[in-house]
Amino acid sequence: MSAAAALDARLRGQLEALAARDLHRQRRIVDGAHGVSIRVDGRDCLCFCANDYLGLAADPRLAEAAARALRASGTGSGAAALVSGHNREHRALEEEIAGFLGCEAALLFANGWAANLGALPALAGRGDTICSDALNHASLIDGARLSRAAITRVPHADAAAFDAALAEAGDGALAVSDGVFSMDGDAAPLPALAASCAQRGATLYVDDAHGFGARGPGGRGSLAAAGLTHSEVPVYVATLGKAVGAAGAFVAGSHTLIDWLVQRARTWVFSTAPPPSVAAAARAGLAIIRAEPERQERLAANIRHFRTGAAERGLAVGASETAIQPLVLGDAARTMRVSRALWERGFWVAGIRPPTVPEGTSRLRIALSAAHGTAQIEALLDALAAVLAAETEGAHA
Ligand SMILES: *Cc1c(COP(=O)(O)O)cnc(C)c1O
Repeated sequence: MSAAAALDARLRGQLEALAARDLHRQRRIVDGAHGVSIRVDGRDCLCFCANDYLGLAADPRLAEAAARALRASGTGSGAAALVSGHNREHRALEEEIAGFLGCEAALLFANGWAANLGALPALAGRGDTICSDALNHASLIDGARLSRAAITRVPHADAAAFDAALAEAGDGALAVSDGVFSMDGDAAPLPALAASCAQRGATLYVDDAHGFGARGPGGRGSLAAAGLTHSEVPVYVATLGKAVGAAGAFVAGSHTLIDWLVQRARTWVFSTAPPPSVAAAARAGLAIIRAEPERQERLAANIRHFRTGAAERGLAVGASETAIQPLVLGDAARTMRVSRALWERGFWVAGIRPPTVPEGTSRLRIALSAAHGTAQIEALLDALAAVLAAETEGAHA
């Protein structure tokens, strides 16, 4: 047997074990632009699974800004930012983000994964403690592991447990939380966490990938929504590939924080800077967020509409007030059956299974956008009710 055949034989066994537990995952192919109406695997459907919360991913103004930057600056940034890769577009984006948030500075990373894997080990190390919400994003979990700090896993969104963990950890601990939890859609108890951190001498680190642009006054995110400032939350991370409609991520905070990350965030120091065109697209997205606050209003109205309609139909969606609306169904096989039945009716709704969510909490993750129309949301609700009713009948037959 060749070396490649031996590896394949081993992996095939593991893949078959995943498939037997309904945990095997596959990609669908999108043709053309991302949006609410989307062509997937050769058919037209309505998308309810993207993080394009404001409908900016295919906005022609972002594409035009990227095209202008491509013509002016070419495709590649050439090197890491500390070498020769720091383009005028990158700097302008960082300044505009800091200005928008009302903090001193921001540092652009290639993506959110790189931001967390770079920033956490730069801020904590051996001998330190990171207190981390149990449902934090995988990139926060891996960043904390990479730091070699001691990790205290705190029960989800439990401010009292966080306070106890910080008291135990002592001065200088890092408290880490998603702003909005990506699979449950609930918001972190940020005011209580910030108060605990202030009292216990800890630093609060918030990853607001699902809040930035979508929540809070003017789309300023989960800190603004909670009435907190960047002096109370020293480390703020968000991504540019979700509500902003482009790609990339940033860490925002003080000049000193950013200067430190420039010295020590390895995923930033040793990684080629993103293409200037991507920064140009993000700048255009941010400008639209500033100029068109009605997008957040439409998103908020769509969330209200969905929740009211779900309650009327007896659909047990979670307590989320954000664009992420989970419908927990329990086992993975049932979740994928329901997701497939929706797909047959022209709705693309992601089924989420372990290990993304804990065993027994497989769910539909319904993601709403400002770009959804009321009739589209009604159609999804009707389809959900019909598919679940048919499921229940099938189970009792
Ligand atoms: C999506 C996400 C990330 C990763 O960001 P990418 O830019 O997609 O790599 C990090 N943290 C959270 C909370 C996320 O939801």
